[in-house]
Parts: sequence; C-alpha cells; structure tokens
Amino acid sequence: ERKAALSTATGPGATSDGHKVPLLANIGGPSDVAAALEAGAEGVGLFRTEFLFLDDSAKAPSEDKQVAAYRQVLEAFPEGRVVVRVLDAGADKPLDFLTPADEPNPALGVRGLRTLLDHPEVLHTQLSALAKAAEGLPVYLEVMAPMVADRQDARAFADACRAAGLRAKFGAMVEIPSAALRARSVLQEVEFLSLGTNDLAQYTFAADRQVGAVSRLQDPWQPALLDLVALSAEGAKAEGKSCGVCGEAAADPLLACVLTGLGVTSLSMGSASLPYVRATLAKHTLAQCERAAAAARAADSAEDARAAAQAVLSGE
Ligand code: PEP
Ligand code: MG
Repeated sequence: ERKAALSTATGPGATSDGHKVPLLANIGGPSDVAAALEAGAEGVGLFRTEFLFLDDSAKAPSEDKQVAAYRQVLEAFPEGRVVVRVLDAGADKPLDFLTPADEPNPALGVRGLRTLLDHPEVLHTQLSALAKAAEGLPVYLEVMAPMVADRQDARAFADACRAAGLRAKFGAMVEIPSAALRARSVLQEVEFLSLGTNDLAQYTFAADRQVGAVSRLQDPWQPALLDLVALSAEGAKAEGKSCGVCGEAAADPLLACVLTGLGVTSLSMGSASLPYVRATLAKHTLAQCERAAAAARAADSAEDARAAAQAVLSGE
C-alpha cells in the first residue's frame, strides 16, 4: 500500500482504472526543468519560448543561443516528450521589434502565429534552432504554434516546419474558438492539438485575461468553454490524433478529472500542481470522470458546473 501511495505521488498520470493521462509540465526555460523533474513530470507539455526573446528588445536571439537553450531542456527529458511552443509575441506578451505599436486592440491584432508569418525569418531561425537542438537526441519532440485560427494557419505553420528541416510532430494550439469549432479541419494539416484555455476563455467570452473586472468570464469552469474543449477532443479522436490541455484549467485537480472525461489526452501545468492533479485523477475511474464532465456541461454557470462535477466525484 505504501508503494502504491508512492507511485501515485510520482508515477505516470492515470485514472484509478488505468486510463493513462500523461501529466506534463509548463516551463518558461531551462531554469524550470529541475522543478518539473522533481514533481515527476512525464515531459514538457508547454515550453514557452518567449523568455529567450526578453533579453534584447531590438532583435531576436541568435540561432546558436537558441540551440543551446533548447538543447538544455531536451536533454533533461531523454525519454519523455517535449512540446515546444514557437514564439508567442503580442497582446499580453509584446516585443518591441515585432509587435505593432499602433493597434487599437492588440489581443485581436497581429500576435502569436500571425506575428511569425509576418516575420518568416524569425520563425525559420527558431525552427532550425529546434531542429539542431534535437539532433542525435532520442527525445520525442513536438512543436506547436500559438493562436492558430484555421486550417490555412495550420498549413502555413506546417510548411514552415518542413522548410526548416524539422523532424518532429507539428501541432496547433486551440486558443481561438474558430479552431475548436473546426478542429477536424485544422487537423488535416497538423498532428496534434493543445488547448490554451487562458486565451480560449478570453476569446470565447470577449473578456480580456488581464482585466480583473471581467474575471468571472475567465473562469475555466464556464460550460461554454467546456463545450469547446469537448468539440476539440472529439474532433481529435475522430482523426485519431491527440488533444492536450496546457492552460491554467489543467492545474485544477477537479477540473483535470472533468477534462479527462471530456476526452483530453494529456494535461500540462505548472510543476507545483502536478502532485495534486496526479493524486486526484488516481482516485476516480474514467467512467466517473465522464459522468462528472457530462454533469458539468449540463450546468448553466461556472459555479454550478463545479458543484455538479464535485457531487459526481465525491458521491461515488
Ligand atoms: C493559454 O493561452 O492558455 C496558454 C497556455 O498560453 P499563454 O498563457 O502563454 O498565452
Ligand atoms: Mg495563449
């Protein structure tokens, strides 16, 4: 029994009946790797590469500098998977040399993948740096683009990855409702989806993630957000592909069970949350998670959705 408790504390993520849900870490750079390993992360589900671009506000970091930073992270997970997100500049993460200064609505303007498609040299350097960093390593590299709106965006990103000689899986973040609504279409171009629930909530509810006054609408328990998660996961399943979550929603242990019940295939979060999510998931069967998910989606508010899921998961 002690051994079982120990494996629940550090082992791979799974429901009590053995349905595997890889638990991955969100990191911002090599300095976050130690905490991820200590928390038993099975890999990295979101490597936010913006940190590399913060040192110099006038230009992108050199390819060599990027190779070194990426390699440090890839080497830390020799058997795990590492999902790297290409630069997500703009809106809440502006960069002087890339982000237009005169946009009336930066969150609705040129940001994320849109910025990279306007600056193909920046994207190309980053993708070639990733290709070089992964050379000779057994790591399972996945590379994804932020703010993919549609199939055309996904194709442009996949083309750029191929042009850079990247041997990895290419994926799209689902952060814009259009991508969730047309998940199967997006998946004609890429191999996996990863839900960024922070931005997906922002764009679903027209509620700025940086404005506290509208935080009620940023609650990831909002049933409309759960509907978009379900659509994305169902689309991925129909295409035989994976659909993870890497937004803050994955860090809430109860919600992690609901996301699993909605069909999400992996959960990525800040390392501090990994033990709690792992322990809660291990207490419930997949069928319980599915019932909790159905109960949450049947609710009409975030509070009621949480209460309904809680009732299902504690009453059984
Ligand atoms: C998200 O939007 O949910 C996400 C994971 O990306 P970021 O928080 O870096 O925008
Ligand atoms: Mg985002």
